[in-house]
Amino acid sequence: MNAEAVLEMFRKSGALLEGHFRLSSGLHSDRYFQSALVLQYPEFASALGDALGGRVKHLQATAILSPALGGIVIGQEVGRALGVRAMFAERVDGKLTLRRGFTLSPADRVVVVEDVVTTGGSTRETIDVANAAGATVSGAAALVDRGGEAANVLVPLFSLIQMNVPTYDPSSCPLCAKGVPVAKPGSRV
Ligand SMILES: [Zn+2]
Repeated sequence: MNAEAVLEMFRKSGALLEGHFRLSSGLHSDRYFQSALVLQYPEFASALGDALGGRVKHLQATAILSPALGGIVIGQEVGRALGVRAMFAERVDGKLTLRRGFTLSPADRVVVVEDVVTTGGSTRETIDVANAAGATVSGAAALVDRGGEAANVLVPLFSLIQMNVPTYDPSSCPLCAKGVPVAKPGSRV
């Protein structure tokens, strides 16, 4: 599946939003990928899982680990496509943690799967969780790599869409300067 076909799924499901958004990284942007809206459709979710799974098949993962909540659905679909366990890490007192009896061992090769990577912060944090559990992280995968120069996740990153959407520090955001109200789509839209 090429990037245009993936973008078309995002557009069709209203998952590519335009406006003025505060990303989870705190940076502002005029575009937002609301992956939950494309992943709510089972035919899109399974097709995206198959496609992303295909990109990381060579890493021979034994388990998928995703950060909650955004990475859970696509992580599950990639795990299904590869026939391996799909787990998620969730925040406890602000820190990503393995809960619910999920375990990783030194024998595990983990691929970290997210919906959208912007700065790579939550991917790096999820890698740390897998490493702390003794596993080896062989790569990371995301539906969308927003291509921030800071998106250095320290392992190979594979994605279906690479789109270098400008992000702004709130202090130098042109949309803020124009007085456009900012939305935090993760929680409000
Ligand atoms: Zn702004």
